Amino acid sequence: HFENVGFIGLGNMGSRMANNLIMAGYKVAVHDINHEVMRMFAERGVPTKETPFEIAETSDVVITMLPSSSHVLDVYTGPNGLIHDGNLLRPMLFIDSSTIDPQTSRRLSVAVSNCGLKQRKDIWETPIILDAPVSGGVLAAETGTLTFMVGGSEEAYLAAKSLFLSMGKNTIYCGGAGNGSAAKICNNLAMAVSMLGVSEAFALGQSLGIAAGTLAKIFNSSSARCWSSDSYNPVPGVMEGVPSSRNYVGGFATKLMAKDLNLAAESAKETGLTCPLTSQAKEIFVELCKEGHEAKDFSCVFRHYYSGKDE
Ligand code: NAD
Repeated sequence: HFENVGFIGLGNMGSRMANNLIMAGYKVAVHDINHEVMRMFAERGVPTKETPFEIAETSDVVITMLPSSSHVLDVYTGPNGLIHDGNLLRPMLFIDSSTIDPQTSRRLSVAVSNCGLKQRKDIWETPIILDAPVSGGVLAAETGTLTFMVGGSEEAYLAAKSLFLSMGKNTIYCGGAGNGSAAKICNNLAMAVSMLGVSEAFALGQSLGIAAGTLAKIFNSSSARCWSSDSYNPVPGVMEGVPSSRNYVGGFATKLMAKDLNLAAESAKETGLTCPLTSQAKEIFVELCKEGHEAKDFSCVFRHYYSGKDE
């Protein structure tokens, strides 16, 4: 059903995901507001479209990989957006892999299913959108080893599985619309808090005279063991091949972590849940951005927050 794929948002992640779909044999057409990246795809013979609506006109399925909720709303419901006139000829399926708040994913799901479909009631009664954010960074996007966490219709999820597996190695069905987005922001919230905990403990340990390498050995064989400690240690010199060993270059940008914590904080507010760690973690990462570290890996919180060093 999904031979013609439209892909919108060809940034760090999207350009690599689109490449993997092309290599898997899908007929891919692309759109981005960045003309430079559009030119690069056009030079390789990939059809480029000027607007999201033009992508919708020629695709069976459209995948979006955009920075944040406002960009996603713009691409779907803005002028010349994917569903702007509420009367779709095609496509039957939309997949949004951007990290956005679950409330926006749920509102979009209603908006998409309310679109009258003029023809092709051959799969489902109405068009469907899945929220399918990813775990794994740019390298996983490049090597096709992302994990997709998917919310929305289970039937659509199963129908789209081979598409996901062309861009990733795992897919996890999370339940109804918005649950993929919810899973993603909860994962990143826990990751942020564990990174802060490890950084704070290492800063205290070092100021009490324990070498970071020794403390790492203890953590990694004791109850403090976690991904931030044993796979992504934020203290320079403890591990090789992680951002802390290369001046926090590459990895997962501090500004993206600040954005994701903001989504978690807003979601907590909407549901009325008190989340003190979320608020504090958000403040810390927002402060790091203001101090000019927004492009560095988020584990730079160890150096720039806990030891106050500028370089
Ligand atoms: P990016 O900023 O590199 O790419 C976004 C792309 O969207 C850009 O090419 C931009 O020009 C395009 N764009 C913006 N507004 C547009 C519009 N209105 N119409 C068409 N194109 C538009 O971002 P990224 O790193 O690829 O991340 C994309 C999403 O994936 C984000 O939500 C991010 O949080 C999430 N994510 C990123 C990573 C990572 O490591 N980079 C990992 C997991 C999830």
